[in-house]
This record gives sequence, structure tokens and C-alpha cells, in this order.
Amino acid sequence: MTRRNGDRLMRMMLMMGLVVPVGMAAQAPAPPVPADSARVTALKAEVQAEVEKMKDFTQQMVDQIFSFGELGFQEVETHQYLVRILRQNGFAVEEGVAGIPTAFMASWGSGKPVIALGSDIDGIPQPSQKPGVAYRSPIIEGAPGHGEGHNSGQAVNITAALALKRIMERDKIPGTIRIWPGTAEELVGTKAYFIRAGLFKDVDVALFTHVGRNLSVSWGAAGGTGLVSVEYTFEGETAHSAGAPWRGRSALDAVELMNVGWNYRREHLRLEHRSHYVIRNGGDQPNVVPRNASVWYYFREITYPEIKELWQIGDTIAQGAAMMTGTKLLPTRVLGAAWPRHFSRPVAEATFANIQKVGLPEWSEDDQTLARAVQKELGVRETGLSTRLGPLGPPVTDNRGGGSDDIGDISWNVPTVTLSFPSNIPGLPGHNWADSIAMATPIAHKGATAGAKAQAMTLVDLMLKPELVASAWSYFNDVQTKEQKYEPLIRAQDTPAIELNRDIMARYRDQMRKFYFDPTKYKTCLEQLGIVYPTIKK
Ligand SMILES: [Zn+2]
Repeated sequence: MTRRNGDRLMRMMLMMGLVVPVGMAAQAPAPPVPADSARVTALKAEVQAEVEKMKDFTQQMVDQIFSFGELGFQEVETHQYLVRILRQNGFAVEEGVAGIPTAFMASWGSGKPVIALGSDIDGIPQPSQKPGVAYRSPIIEGAPGHGEGHNSGQAVNITAALALKRIMERDKIPGTIRIWPGTAEELVGTKAYFIRAGLFKDVDVALFTHVGRNLSVSWGAAGGTGLVSVEYTFEGETAHSAGAPWRGRSALDAVELMNVGWNYRREHLRLEHRSHYVIRNGGDQPNVVPRNASVWYYFREITYPEIKELWQIGDTIAQGAAMMTGTKLLPTRVLGAAWPRHFSRPVAEATFANIQKVGLPEWSEDDQTLARAVQKELGVRETGLSTRLGPLGPPVTDNRGGGSDDIGDISWNVPTVTLSFPSNIPGLPGHNWADSIAMATPIAHKGATAGAKAQAMTLVDLMLKPELVASAWSYFNDVQTKEQKYEPLIRAQDTPAIELNRDIMARYRDQMRKFYFDPTKYKTCLEQLGIVYPTIKK
């Protein structure tokens, strides 16, 4: 048990009157988490009702952020919008935290426990799509958008927080609610910097939420990977490509040879690994030997040491490519990083109990028709939307790799869970126009409201049952981090890559602005866009 967390556990137990402050061993096991008292049961029913009353507010947030469709590090409108809502509702907001202009930390309340609610906010390149239309139909061809669904999570958290805040004010319940954005999650670009900046130092539990296909939560090692995102830049020498090519040294050759080398090596890497790259700079024009070129890699593995190993192989191949081409490998840049995720068992169990009380939304025939039509369009099983809750997700023991989220870095510093809520359609490819279709429709709205109910109920648990916080830290110290300690993948010299996506957003923002949701004129995004819900192929 670390000293800091031992202190924290002791503080919680002191609060509960379970220990006396002199000479007690901090290693005492956490007391069991009690069942819901009559008061807790009543407050949970009350926050659920509050969230239900706020469903139009939730819908507006989902639609508004969908319409902004901003890419990582360029979430300027999204940032301003969220900060405004939080300040209007009494939160103190610090903007530009960790040196990231579109990151903030909002805080309301006082004292312990401190519960931090987070969710990602960025979109991805290319998936611009009319919501509620079951085939590819971009709002703006080629434009960024929410083809992952990150427009919905802040609505879940803010609605839940405001529902609870009213009750905490009325009943004078101590505790602090923090709200923060997963800025540039697609670039796994910020959460390791939040940790480095100490933003979670006094946080007791982090409740994260992410769009999904069901209302669910898991504990222990999650599936998927962690990763390091590295840019390799080579420097050569220009020459006339026809007149004196022998006098030039091509940085692009180095990029191509690095990629060839990596792709041969790929056969001899673990099956769990994932790696992919894009060439960010391939030179200027063919008749000038490229002096500069760069390639951007994601190295993914399922454990921290294996990520480091993969990264080392990448560095070696890059050096080889420089040697082969007589170019120079410039100092590499880490553009992002994510630890593999591990979630808190006690907090997941509490969340799961709440999920079972909330249940899944009641989907309309229109919702199911849209979902099945999208699945048909993509040639996957036409199962429609989820109608049955799954079990509490156990630790993944047969991890075959997959995606990442830099919530991993937070989960190794503070007890954390990710609540998944049913705002999207099952069976879609991810990072695709099809994943945008549901994200400003009643499917997303109902899914976010269901998520907010579960989140608000777990907040009630954490605010009113100090045993749950103590138990979360006991799991964190005695189980999760017993053998594996957090070491950041970002290096001392790395800084947030806040310039990423600036050029893409600059290209599209003016066109996108015309479609920003205007809740003063329209009830929903669908209404503003004049879309009949659902629109399916005849
Ligand atoms: Zn995501």
C-alpha cells in the first residue's frame, strides 16, 4: 500500500468512526460495503426521476456536440459549450489544464469524497453523416464527425452530476464532483498529461463513461490494448531528382524502408499486438529529392512491458532505415500514449447493481427499424438494438488485442470504472460513417439518459457509503497495483501534441458551422436537418 493511499484509506475509515487515529495499522482490510439503506434507496429513486425530467437537456447536449463534430485538440466549440453549461450550473472551471487549450477541470462542492466524472469529446476524420439515415449520406463530404459517438458521454455525466447536486445542496451532503473531458482521445493524447499535471491527485474515484451498445460495466483487466503513438522524422538532402539524383538523400526512402522493415517484422510479432501508421509528410514535389519525411506509428500491445518492447523494435527499424538511406533520424516525438485499462472491482459491482435497476431503454419500432436497416446496409446480422442486459464484465483472461483508451492511465492512478451506455447500434465497424447514424437520434438520447441514471445512482453510492471508497482503494492497492506499478509512457521531453488536426478543422469548420444545432429554433438535430426518422432505403 502506498503511503498516499494508505492515508486516504485511513481518512475514510476515520470518517466512518471505524478506527481511532492513533497508532492504527493502515493495512486493515476494508470493511464490507453495506447494502443500500432506506435513505440510499430513496435517493437513488429520486436521482433517477431527476435524470428523467432532464431528458430534453440531455438530448440537447448530445445533439449540440454531434453538430460540432470536432477533432482531437481542436474541440474549441465543444469546450466553450461545456464550460458555459458547467459555470451556469455553479461549477468552478479551470480551463487549459495540463497545457491543453481544450481541456478543463470543473469542480463543485467541498470536502471528501472527490469523484471525477470523465468522458471523451473528440470526433474522427471523415465520417460526416446525416443522423437517422440508414445509408451513407454525408452532411459535408469528407468532413470530420462523431463516427465513434464521443458526442454523448458528457451529457451522461453532466446530467447525472446536476441531478445529484440538487440533492446534495438540499440535504447538505458533503463531497466534491469534478467533471473533465477526454480531450483528443482518438489520439490518446491527453490523459497521461492530466496525470503528470496532478489533476487526479486528490481524486478518490474516477467514473468514466463511453458510448456502447449496451448498459454495462466491467472490472479487472479490460480487453484491448495500450499503445504508444510515435512520430519518426528523417532528414536527408535535396537535389534535382533528374539532374543529379546521386547528390540527394531521400527522407521519403527512409520512411518507405522503415515501413517495409516493419511489415516484414510484423509476421514475427505476437498475435495480440496491433500496429498501424500513416505517412504525415512524404516530401514536397517529385523533382526535388525529399529532404524531410515523417511517418506516424501506433504501437499497441496488451501489457505495458510489451508496449515498450514493440516501441524499441520500431526505434531500431527506424535507425536501420536511416542507415540504409544515408539520412538522419531526428529525435522522435511521442504524440500520445495509453496504458492498458484495469477497472475497480468494488466500484464496478456497485455500478452493475445500479445498471440492473435502470435496465435498457424502451426502444420504439422506429429505433429498431433504423438499427436493422443500418445492419442490413453493412451486411451484418440484423439483430436491432440491445434488449437484454449483459452480465457484469469479468477480467479478460484471453485478450486478443483491440482498441485502446487513455483512461488506462487514469485507471492506474485512481480507482476507475468505465460505464458503457447504449447509444449506438450493435455490429458496426467503428470509426466509420455508419457509427455516426444513431448518434443524434432517439437511440443516442435514450441511451444517454439510461447512462445518466446509472451514473447518478453510483454517485449516490460513492457520496453516502465511505466503505465503497475505502474498498475501492483496498482493491487498488492490494490487488491491482500489487505487482504492476504505473510508469508513464510519455517521456520527460514530450508535450501534448496540441497542433494535431488544426489543418483539417481549418478546412471544414466554416462549412460545418452552418449545421451547428440551434436549440432556440429546433427541438432536435433531426428536425433542424429536416430528416424523416428513420430514413431507410425502399
Ligand atoms: Zn472512444
